[in-house]
Amino acid sequence: MPRVEKTVFISYRRANLPWALAIYQNLTAHGYDIFFDYESIGSGDFEQVIIGNIRARAHFLVVCTPSALERCGNPGDWLRREIETALDEKRNIVPIFLEGFDFAHPAISKCLTGKLSNLQKYNGLDTPNGYFNEAMTRLRERYLNIPLEAVLHPIPETVQRIVQRQQSAANQAPATPVGRTSIPPTIGSGSVKSKTPASQARVPSIPGWDFTSRAKPATGSAPVMKITEDCISCGACQPECPTNAIHEGPETYLISPKICDGCKGYNAPQCVDICPVDCIVRA
Ligand code: SF4
Ligand code: SF4
Repeated sequence: MPRVEKTVFISYRRANLPWALAIYQNLTAHGYDIFFDYESIGSGDFEQVIIGNIRARAHFLVVCTPSALERCGNPGDWLRREIETALDEKRNIVPIFLEGFDFAHPAISKCLTGKLSNLQKYNGLDTPNGYFNEAMTRLRERYLNIPLEAVLHPIPETVQRIVQRQQSAANQAPATPVGRTSIPPTIGSGSVKSKTPASQARVPSIPGWDFTSRAKPATGSAPVMKITEDCISCGACQPECPTNAIHEGPETYLISPKICDGCKGYNAPQCVDICPVDCIVRA
């Protein structure tokens, strides 16, 4: 009789790390063995580690936000390659729909070229605002609770060691606050989201700083931001920074005051909106 496998690969864009981590933490707490590229595996190990783990695991989750698939039109895009491998290997593919993701949206459907167009045939899991835990229960009970045959391809010992390192690093991440997780952070700046005119974008409220104006503050110097000790080191803010001012520090992520220009030319600091725990504040 076929067994129900509890091995899962999570495929995601780095900007969606908080979501991948929250899914990882939920499934791990329910006895699943998860692999996701938590600490950025080098391209040299990509084939062996990433592709090997997709082949070795029964279930393949794709974290779908509006911006997640936008680079998939490029045949070399790694997210595309992961999904294509899962399709080739006939994994149990479950797209996780976040932030109102919709395959029918023109900006998304145009990315689903070639083999990738098959992704929309899979039954995705809706994760409505405020119902993350309920969605995870549905994921476990309906989407992952199916017997699969012949899904195991042994992983070499060297790859297994990398898997354990990634799991160990992910296990040390603080628990993603469920209250925040149930309210999706505004992650990514992809094609769908970016259609919102800048004048209509959500403007953060930071005392003493008028983000509705592009004018420099009265002091004449550009304001800068800092990251507080509440940072959970999810890394989501780093790729959003147009000046490359955000870096991983020994305990939390840090913003270089010498580089940060407060997102001059933008109508809001790009890092603030994305932070799932609201720990980026005015310096
Ligand atoms: S305010 Fe802008 S420039 Fe400064 S750290 Fe945030 S994203 Fe980077
Ligand atoms: S500042 Fe916020 S978005 Fe950046 S790494 Fe820390 S928790 Fe993540």
